[in-house]
Amino acid sequence: MQDVSATFQQAQIATYNTTNIDELKRTFASGRTKSYEWRVEQLNALTLLIEENSSDIIEALHADLGKCKTEAWLTEIGYSTASITDTVKRLKSWMKPNKISTPMIAQPGKSYTINEPLGVALIIGAWNYPFQLVITPLIAAIAAGNCAVIKPSELSLTTSALLAKLVPKYLDNAAIKVVEGGKDETTELLAQPFDKYFYTGGEQVGRIVMTAAAKHLASVTLELGGKSPCVVDGDTNLDVAIRRIVWGKWMNAGQTCVAPDYVLIEEEYLTDFSQRLIAEIKKQYGKEPSQSKDYGRIINQRHCSRLINYLDGQNVIHGGKHKLDDKFIEPTVVVQPSVDSALMQEEIFGPILPIVTFKSKQKMLDFITSRPKPLAAYVFTSNAKFEADFVEQISAGSVCVNDTSIFMANHDLPFGGVGTSGMGQYHGKAGFDIFSHTKSVMKRSYKFDAPIRYAPFSKLKLML
Ligand code: NAD
Repeated sequence: MQDVSATFQQAQIATYNTTNIDELKRTFASGRTKSYEWRVEQLNALTLLIEENSSDIIEALHADLGKCKTEAWLTEIGYSTASITDTVKRLKSWMKPNKISTPMIAQPGKSYTINEPLGVALIIGAWNYPFQLVITPLIAAIAAGNCAVIKPSELSLTTSALLAKLVPKYLDNAAIKVVEGGKDETTELLAQPFDKYFYTGGEQVGRIVMTAAAKHLASVTLELGGKSPCVVDGDTNLDVAIRRIVWGKWMNAGQTCVAPDYVLIEEEYLTDFSQRLIAEIKKQYGKEPSQSKDYGRIINQRHCSRLINYLDGQNVIHGGKHKLDDKFIEPTVVVQPSVDSALMQEEIFGPILPIVTFKSKQKMLDFITSRPKPLAAYVFTSNAKFEADFVEQISAGSVCVNDTSIFMANHDLPFGGVGTSGMGQYHGKAGFDIFSHTKSVMKRSYKFDAPIRYAPFSKLKLML
């Protein structure tokens, strides 16, 4: 794979004065982004951007994360184009006024709601899916008729530079901008009076973004993370369950916000489950995962060291080998970690899977509910009662039964966290909604005007 990062870093990138969003405010005020035609034209231009540059996007993702071509298609490129297709197909119906009934007191009259764009949106992305995590919210922002600034993560610098190069070439430059940079540039952006703040990333910066939005009393959506638990009922179809856990956990080398963070299982099934898990890891990534073209790399050495430190003093039953200079860590399995260790307290966000055992199914549910609400929660079971208990008792952004991250493929399922895993949801219509204000409209007729509501209020009126 050719190293494109150097080329793009040197490229003349259209830069944008981060201290000034006036141009975007003026474009929005002109009203042109509100038309159905502008929205569809921009969405089609975005499709063209992706189609004409897919090989550069694949190379950038490979340079940043060692992402293989299939994963790049499945989770970033194809994911984004499918989202555009769905959005364009449904946009007319989303934009239609929604009829609401009118009470007697306001008759004759009619009531309805219409969705209007919020204005100028700031979209801040994270590095693990560096293309999709800014493009999917951008699709929603455009669909709702907004102007937008996108700020990709500085850690995935090749993809960031590629976006900064391509977006001005394809999209309406006076309405959509890319700003590159890290903390300083984002801090400058956050000081600007955006109408919508949409952030994907960790909890700590989420608080900074929410504080910034509060200064402008602007709408905010936080797509955060957390430790997504994966409960395995040993008495289920373990072959399929394990295949799907390996897929969801080690895709993108574990750097997926909805990856199963740890497995919970009843004690009696631990040995059988872990042996079969290790066999499946070898099947999917070979005996030498460092040689597998399908296995990714950690974003940078700092995160690599953070992950390696998690293994200190742990009972590693598979993997654990690493090469810091290659940002490589083997698919690693840890059993019975202390629940107070950093491995079980922090979001792992890497290729290490701890397995924790419990005496009963209810104890597993109690463990999950005693911790912060996760972004996703998984259960593998063939027991209808346990499935129902899990879905009812576990509060999480999303729940998936008998699979892992595949639920993300359904663009019509609203996606987002709850509590410390985030606030607000997007994807499909939910995305259109968070970039819109639902405006209520009531129209009265002049034909009849009941005198009862007007002063002076006679005794008879007051009795009614
Ligand atoms: P990151 O380091 O890329 O930071 C995210 C964004 O915040 C970047 O654009 C960065 O420039 C900006 N930023 C960093 N420090 C800042 C500061 N002090 N002030 C203002 N802006 C700042 O990503 P991360 O935080 O390492 O992301 C990992 C987290 O994101 C994990 O918790 C993961 O679960 C979560 N995540 C969530 C989703 C989701 O859809 N819910 C998707 C991906 C990642």
